[in-house]
Amino acid sequence: MRIVVRNSPAHPLADLSDREATALRAWYGNAASKEDEAIALSVIKRSKVMDGWIECDCLAAGLQPLLAPIQQERTFTLRRLTPKEADPHRHEERPNHAQTCPFHVDKDAAPALFDRRYQIRPLPKPKRSYIDALPAIPNRLADLSDDDPTRSRERNDRPSRLGGILWRMLDRAGTNVIPPLQDHPEFALGGQLSRMRSAARELRVLRTWTLNALLSTWGADYWDPASRWQRLLWTSRPDWPENLRRTGFMLVFSKSVSAQTIMPASSSRNIDVLGKVRQPLRGDPALRGPFLTLLNVDFQEDDEGPVRAIQAYAQPVYNGDTLFPVESGFERDVSHLLFWLQQALFDAAPDLRIKIIKPLFALDTPIGVCRPDFILEASYRRSPPVNLIVEAFGMETDEYREAKERTLPRMKHLGPIFGIFPKDLAEAKAADTAKRLQDWVIDQVRQARNTPPTSDDDILT
Ligand SMILES: [Zn+2]
Repeated sequence: MRIVVRNSPAHPLADLSDREATALRAWYGNAASKEDEAIALSVIKRSKVMDGWIECDCLAAGLQPLLAPIQQERTFTLRRLTPKEADPHRHEERPNHAQTCPFHVDKDAAPALFDRRYQIRPLPKPKRSYIDALPAIPNRLADLSDDDPTRSRERNDRPSRLGGILWRMLDRAGTNVIPPLQDHPEFALGGQLSRMRSAARELRVLRTWTLNALLSTWGADYWDPASRWQRLLWTSRPDWPENLRRTGFMLVFSKSVSAQTIMPASSSRNIDVLGKVRQPLRGDPALRGPFLTLLNVDFQEDDEGPVRAIQAYAQPVYNGDTLFPVESGFERDVSHLLFWLQQALFDAAPDLRIKIIKPLFALDTPIGVCRPDFILEASYRRSPPVNLIVEAFGMETDEYREAKERTLPRMKHLGPIFGIFPKDLAEAKAADTAKRLQDWVIDQVRQARNTPPTSDDDILT
């Protein structure tokens, strides 16, 4: 990326470092560390002072997309410059960002129900320990003389902040990892939620309040002002600074969600959400649940209550016992196959340890970041573990295929890839696919050990 002359992008003013470009993308993708945010702010300020634009570098060739620094009061942001909708020929020299770039503009201006680029999440795993509360309710009108009609919707396609918090909790709790069966893992909703709570204890909303203290995992708490959760939120009242709203969080297992409603499994009543319930866009919506849903609440305009749900993110999960995250019904079927595989290999080769991982954040490779659908970590006796990638080639929109094609070469840097398509799991072929996958895993582990098969009594020696 570089800073270029405003309205004349062919003329460069200054180059940005890789670190600065990474920070801008992390900031825009809602996954920035404090350090990223500081760097992004300084870059935007600098380009504003230089009266320049920022030129992205996400396209392979030709004209690159442009970003304009914007200052409002003491707030800085970037506006993505795109062709004018009213007149497509005006500014047609302004291309959209690549699908894999967080600045990519979705043509669809509909309210963001979905994380369209869930499959990329092109950002390093955030290390920060603070999470975002709701901002204060605005007490003055925006300046209507501002000539930016796109602002209200331009950020609709950013990844959901709540989604980011939920993924960090899942990641810290290890909910996205199924340990080797040799370790006798036990799965139950209560146990998984208490692991999530431990993870939430390490995240802070305010200096004096952890996420765990402000979090309920019991749907009925929503309607009960006397619940411990609501009482703690009441106690926290004097500790909230003016620029934040007193915010509570709920983490609930739900069989289904709709655009503005969550149906918690632990309650017979539905929770209506003021904003939108977001979820990953992948596969048939009818097959996407059950979900693990994170929502935030405030206490109405006057902060006096009753509790009011503002936003929510619904992460599809394998089932209520594991809360293992999946992105679609098809990924749930592939997970099912992987759990079968883990058991079958455990029975056949008790010394072969298989760990199943669903990466929640992008992984780095020498040619860019990617997020494989599943990683099997296989280790035999004392041999070092090998990583095997399993990709679920489910819903095939062009956009999706394009994004996959771009990231497949990167995944090859992480390990060999086994692809599974919906037809592979059709009844007639499922057994054959299972056998093929099992043989492939054994083969890969063997190759890694460099030992040709010699006897039949141990499938791996
Ligand atoms: Zn870009």
